[in-house]
Amino acid sequence: MTEELKPCPFCGNKYPKLVRGLFQELSDMVNVNCPDCGANSAFVSGFLIDANKIVIAGWNMRELEKWHKYPDEKPEKSGRYLVVTTDRRIYISEFFIYDEKKEGTWEYQILYWRELPPMPEVE
Ligand SMILES: [Zn+2]
Repeated sequence: MTEELKPCPFCGNKYPKLVRGLFQELSDMVNVNCPDCGANSAFVSGFLIDANKIVIAGWNMRELEKWHKYPDEKPEKSGRYLVVTTDRRIYISEFFIYDEKKEGTWEYQILYWRELPPMPEVE
Protein backbone atom coordinates (compact mmCIF):
# COMPACT_ATOMS: atom_id res chain seq x y z
CA MET A 1 0.00 0.00 0.00
CA THR A 2 1.45 3.35 -1.00
CA GLU A 3 -1.10 5.80 0.34
CA GLU A 4 -0.81 6.94 3.92
CA LEU A 5 -3.74 7.36 6.28
CA LYS A 6 -4.14 10.83 7.79
CA PRO A 7 -4.93 11.14 11.53
CA CYS A 8 -8.50 10.69 12.75
CA PRO A 9 -10.43 13.92 11.98
CA PHE A 10 -12.48 13.50 15.18
CA CYS A 11 -9.98 12.62 17.94
CA GLY A 12 -6.60 13.19 16.27
CA ASN A 13 -5.38 9.58 16.72
CA LYS A 14 -2.40 9.22 14.38
CA TYR A 15 -2.90 5.48 13.80
CA PRO A 16 -6.28 4.72 12.20
CA LYS A 17 -6.49 1.22 10.73
CA LEU A 18 -7.47 -0.14 7.34
CA VAL A 19 -9.89 -2.97 8.18
CA ARG A 20 -11.00 -5.79 5.92
CA GLY A 21 -13.60 -8.29 7.05
CA LEU A 22 -17.06 -9.69 6.77
CA PHE A 23 -19.86 -7.18 7.25
CA GLN A 24 -23.00 -8.75 8.76
CA GLU A 25 -21.72 -12.06 7.34
CA LEU A 26 -22.84 -10.93 3.91
CA SER A 27 -19.83 -9.77 2.01
CA ASP A 28 -16.20 -8.85 2.15
CA MET A 29 -15.94 -5.16 3.11
CA VAL A 30 -13.08 -2.70 3.52
CA ASN A 31 -13.10 0.48 5.59
CA VAL A 32 -10.94 2.68 7.80
CA ASN A 33 -11.56 2.60 11.54
CA CYS A 34 -10.19 4.65 14.42
CA PRO A 35 -9.45 2.27 17.33
CA ASP A 36 -9.50 5.18 19.81
CA CYS A 37 -12.91 6.80 19.15
CA GLY A 38 -14.59 4.24 16.87
CA ALA A 39 -14.99 6.57 13.88
CA ASN A 40 -15.53 4.71 10.60
CA SER A 41 -15.09 5.64 6.98
CA ALA A 42 -17.61 4.45 4.42
CA PHE A 43 -17.56 0.69 3.79
CA VAL A 44 -16.55 -0.43 0.29
CA SER A 45 -16.87 -3.90 -1.22
CA GLY A 46 -13.59 -5.79 -1.01
CA PHE A 47 -14.30 -7.19 -4.46
CA LEU A 48 -13.51 -3.82 -6.05
CA ILE A 49 -9.95 -3.71 -7.37
CA ASP A 50 -9.31 -0.26 -5.86
CA ALA A 51 -11.20 -0.86 -2.59
CA ASN A 52 -8.27 0.10 -0.35
CA LYS A 53 -7.48 3.19 -2.40
CA ILE A 54 -11.12 4.33 -2.37
CA VAL A 55 -11.60 4.09 1.42
CA ILE A 56 -8.22 5.70 2.13
CA ALA A 57 -9.00 8.62 -0.20
CA GLY A 58 -12.40 9.07 1.49
CA TRP A 59 -10.91 8.97 4.97
CA ASN A 60 -8.13 11.42 4.10
CA MET A 61 -10.62 13.84 2.52
CA ARG A 62 -12.27 14.34 5.93
CA GLU A 63 -9.01 15.63 7.37
CA LEU A 64 -8.58 17.99 4.42
CA GLU A 65 -12.09 19.36 5.00
CA LYS A 66 -11.53 20.03 8.69
CA TRP A 67 -11.37 23.65 9.94
CA HIS A 68 -8.34 24.36 12.13
CA LYS A 69 -8.57 26.96 14.90
CA TYR A 70 -5.92 29.64 14.62
CA PRO A 71 -3.48 30.19 16.30
CA ASP A 72 -3.83 26.84 18.16
CA GLU A 73 -3.05 25.04 14.89
CA LYS A 74 -0.92 26.52 12.13
CA PRO A 75 -0.30 25.33 8.57
CA GLU A 76 2.96 23.41 8.14
CA LYS A 77 3.83 25.20 4.93
CA SER A 78 3.33 28.49 3.15
CA GLY A 79 0.47 28.55 0.70
CA ARG A 80 -3.11 29.52 -0.01
CA TYR A 81 -5.86 28.40 2.37
CA LEU A 82 -9.57 28.89 2.91
CA VAL A 83 -9.98 31.11 6.00
CA VAL A 84 -12.72 32.48 8.27
CA THR A 85 -11.89 36.06 9.20
CA THR A 86 -12.70 37.89 12.44
CA ASP A 87 -15.65 39.52 10.65
CA ARG A 88 -17.06 36.01 9.98
CA ARG A 89 -16.43 35.89 6.25
CA ILE A 90 -14.77 33.20 4.17
CA TYR A 91 -11.83 34.16 1.96
CA ILE A 92 -8.85 32.55 0.34
CA SER A 93 -5.71 33.83 2.06
CA GLU A 94 -1.99 33.40 1.68
CA PHE A 95 -0.04 32.13 4.69
CA PHE A 96 3.64 33.07 4.74
CA ILE A 97 6.14 31.18 6.88
CA TYR A 98 9.11 33.46 7.37
CA ASP A 99 11.33 31.51 9.75
CA GLU A 100 12.22 27.95 10.78
CA LYS A 101 10.06 28.18 13.95
CA LYS A 102 7.02 27.96 11.65
CA GLU A 103 5.73 31.34 12.72
CA GLY A 104 3.77 32.90 9.92
CA THR A 105 1.45 35.68 8.89
CA TRP A 106 -1.89 35.85 7.14
CA GLU A 107 -3.17 38.57 4.87
CA TYR A 108 -6.25 38.88 7.11
CA GLN A 109 -7.12 38.56 10.82
CA ILE A 110 -8.35 34.98 10.89
CA LEU A 111 -10.14 32.60 13.25
CA TYR A 112 -10.01 29.35 11.26
CA TRP A 113 -8.24 27.90 8.22
CA ARG A 114 -8.48 24.76 6.12
CA GLU A 115 -7.01 23.25 2.97
CA LEU A 116 -8.43 24.43 -0.36
CA PRO A 117 -10.60 21.80 -2.04
CA PRO A 118 -9.01 20.08 -5.05
CA MET A 119 -9.52 21.64 -8.47
CA PRO A 120 -11.98 19.90 -10.78
CA GLU A 121 -10.47 18.41 -13.91
CA VAL A 122 -10.94 21.23 -16.42
CA GLU A 123 -10.73 20.33 -20.09
ZN1 LIG B 1 -10.68 8.86 16.41
